Amino acid sequence: MLQPDRETRAEWTKTVTAFVEEFIEGLEAAPASSPGTALLPPPPAETPGELGALLDTFRTAAGQAVETAGPRYLAYFPAGGLYSSVLAEFLAQTTNRYTGVASTAPALVALEQSVIRWMCDLFELPAGSGGIFTTGASLATLSAVHTARQDRLGAHDPNGTIYVTAHTHHCVAKAAHITGFPSERIRVVPTDADLRMDVAQARAMITEDRAHGLRPFLIVGTAGATSTGIVDPLDDIATLAQQEGLWFHADGAYGGAFQLTERGRATLKGITRADSIAWDPHKSLFLPYGTGVLLVRDESRLRAAHVADGDYLQDLDHGTGLPDYADLGPELTREFRGLRVWLPLHLHGVAAFREALDEKHDLADHLRTELAKIDGVEVLKSGLTVVVFRGTDSERLLKDINGSGRFFVSSTRLDGRFTLRMCVLSHRTHREHVDEVIDFVRRWRA
Ligand SMILES: *Cc1c(COP(=O)(O)O)cnc(C)c1O
Repeated sequence: MLQPDRETRAEWTKTVTAFVEEFIEGLEAAPASSPGTALLPPPPAETPGELGALLDTFRTAAGQAVETAGPRYLAYFPAGGLYSSVLAEFLAQTTNRYTGVASTAPALVALEQSVIRWMCDLFELPAGSGGIFTTGASLATLSAVHTARQDRLGAHDPNGTIYVTAHTHHCVAKAAHITGFPSERIRVVPTDADLRMDVAQARAMITEDRAHGLRPFLIVGTAGATSTGIVDPLDDIATLAQQEGLWFHADGAYGGAFQLTERGRATLKGITRADSIAWDPHKSLFLPYGTGVLLVRDESRLRAAHVADGDYLQDLDHGTGLPDYADLGPELTREFRGLRVWLPLHLHGVAAFREALDEKHDLADHLRTELAKIDGVEVLKSGLTVVVFRGTDSERLLKDINGSGRFFVSSTRLDGRFTLRMCVLSHRTHREHVDEVIDFVRRWRA
């Protein structure tokens, strides 16, 4: 009963495909957010259900949500599930290959590794570099912090000290806590007038901390801060890290993809000198949630920090010349994440991604310029495709924008003050959608 026959499979696929088409076709007009309930559906019955009815339950549940793949989603970081990636996922799950150890599916691991190599080349990482697809930047950061500690401190040392700024993503603090460093070992370096790390102050703090018996080992530079999109002076941080013997981790969760564009490369200058880079293709490559990557300058250090073995694995061949991903991260059994990145890159071509990122960059510039022209709106400093601004009553404006059902926007705090934030990054967002939100703010102010 667990193996449907050909006819049943065809019927199920038809039912699901019809839903998929209806969903995608409806996205342009769909509300930006719809209120939902938190009622639990009944538990599974002993007897078989009917796919159509179950799909209705799913349709209703999926409809009560923020439309994160829609064209008017401007909150947090839009993550549009590219259709080509969805198909890749269907194929990956159908074949269900095991890619934790290369010898069980060497050509598929090679396919995944070809994308990792392309990414290492993009960031100009040298021979011997490598990496691994993770579920997201949080897990990539956890592995980076753990690797930095093993590499720079040897064993765990409670005096190990980490340098961040107030704009560093909280996943660094989470990773530090999980790896055994309390909040006191996370030093918050002041930022300059442009909200970028003040590297001279970082240098002074490192010297002072050393004098007090602490062991500085890791500095994190952000390539596109979550609140503002602003990029730290990565080149100066790299120099400081080199001089002080610290591991330099670049958090490009959001901004990493802009390395594909000419403007982005200039802004991210210095990221190529990082010891490790976290990047979320599920943000800036428009791929589905659960697609992050950690790239490291020296793959052997990532391996040294994660490798482990068990008697039950003795039959596996480790001599393929390809990385065994189980040795490069905490997971033994893992999804074959490579295909959902490989297929879109090859099917659409890299230029399509570059053009889309450039388009979003232009749209964010347009949004900044036009919002600044509106009376009573103050546009603050931001970078890449994030736009931050305040009005006389920002909190009510946010409520009204989201209450309209046309857009979904979020907020943050800058200098302790409530600030509206928009991010243009959905692959479905184009000029007409941005103009519509500008119009909304203009009319709201009038
Ligand atoms: C989103 C984000 C993260 C966390 O990534 P997840 O994929 O959500 O785990 C880390 N750093 C920055 C700068 C981010 O924007």
